[in-house]
Amino acid sequence: MFVKVTILVKVIVFLVFFVQCDCAPKKKYSELKKCDIGQLADEIASYDAVVKDIMDYVFSGPFKNQTYDELAKFVDKFGARPSGSDVLEQSIDYMIKLTRDEDINDIVTEELEVPEWIRGEEQITMLEPRKKNIQLLGLGKSVSTPEEGITAEVIVVSNFEELAATPDNVVKGKIVLFDPVFTTYSETVVHRSQGAARAAEKGAVASLVRSITPFSINSPHTGSQSYEENITKIPTAAITLEDSDLIRRMYNRGEKVVLNIKMFSELNNKTSRNTLIDLKGRELPEKLVIVSGHIDSWDVGQGAMDDGGGMFISWAAPVILKRLNLRPKRTIRTIFWTAEELGLIGAKAYEEKHRNESHNINFIMESDEGTFAPLGLEVAGNQEARCIIAEILKLFESINASTLVEDDSPGSDIAVIINTGVPGASLYNANEKYFWFHHTEGDTMNVEDPKELDLGAAFWTAVAYIIADLSIDIPR
Ligand SMILES: [Zn+2]
Repeated sequence: MFVKVTILVKVIVFLVFFVQCDCAPKKKYSELKKCDIGQLADEIASYDAVVKDIMDYVFSGPFKNQTYDELAKFVDKFGARPSGSDVLEQSIDYMIKLTRDEDINDIVTEELEVPEWIRGEEQITMLEPRKKNIQLLGLGKSVSTPEEGITAEVIVVSNFEELAATPDNVVKGKIVLFDPVFTTYSETVVHRSQGAARAAEKGAVASLVRSITPFSINSPHTGSQSYEENITKIPTAAITLEDSDLIRRMYNRGEKVVLNIKMFSELNNKTSRNTLIDLKGRELPEKLVIVSGHIDSWDVGQGAMDDGGGMFISWAAPVILKRLNLRPKRTIRTIFWTAEELGLIGAKAYEEKHRNESHNINFIMESDEGTFAPLGLEVAGNQEARCIIAEILKLFESINASTLVEDDSPGSDIAVIINTGVPGASLYNANEKYFWFHHTEGDTMNVEDPKELDLGAAFWTAVAYIIADLSIDIPR
């Protein structure tokens, strides 16, 4: 009995600290202890002229609007690029050619196995208390319903604690709707990613989640979810804030809400590729500063924001440096991760394949939370590393991008590598509206802005260049 309780406590601790990981509270650099990096500060200040050259080239020179224009051409040509699809592979080939056209030829792709989840017909009809179509998007890897669908009564809970407190016989045979109010993404998303497993454990026949967003014009938001071993896989989908709140009001009034859910999909194994583009360093080519974004997207929208923009500012870095004939001491490696959306699959494969050389990663960067106006970086690393990055960020005061946010596990794909002890950063940007569009049909070029992409591309390029060219490695 004691042993069992201990295991239970461990499971709860795991759930609270890992699954619900809201990570460390974010702190601005000004709240940190004072840094003293000695003469390195003078060395960093000497890059001011290079930063200006890069900014001039992007803000008013030949690269003005180029990031936006190339991103638009790309997403208009391919649209959504889901994991495992032929169109994703064609878009990878396109990016390789686009890079070779810039006379950058150190490009390799690394194959890996990825899931392909194909969404079929999806429909939810409210049958009681009145007939109504409910907008939905099935969640990643959801299983199908039987041909005739699942017809059942709904129970509404706001969180896992409420579900746990509901007797099993009340949940059994029902559809569970989770309607958490959006606080932060990392706090709220657990209801999407773990909802089906938690509901099935209590005997539910399907689960729904209020879309993980603070704002809606009746748009459902899809996303990944994970079934668990030895728990029945039940169909699971996101519905809109409007329909979720409607069902909640009816439920609170004691009205019986009955839905018919029809969802069909298939799941296959396919091969995809991570893409590695190197601008070789002139003195220490084996040492890497990585800039990255993911090339796959959800199957809805165009994947312009998630993560076309992040991929394109990472593409722009070696291109701008090559055009300006700026070759840093270390290699700048651009990575387009594949299959991020179905579980960081490309990043995990890269980490495994390159584990023995991870000491060569000097710094790793990722943009996957929007490419709105840059504000600075969310940085993981020791105190000395953060002090060095903070000093570099001072060179970006003119574009208001000097803020360092402490975050021990920034980014999505790169967190896989940062968690092994590699210092790195995610783009900190003015992304208050990011989750309005995230994983919806609304993720299109209309979210993107040419000036913001120019700011992002110049900032990303200059930061990567300075780190790759410094006289010292970023300490760990
Ligand atoms: Zn993303």
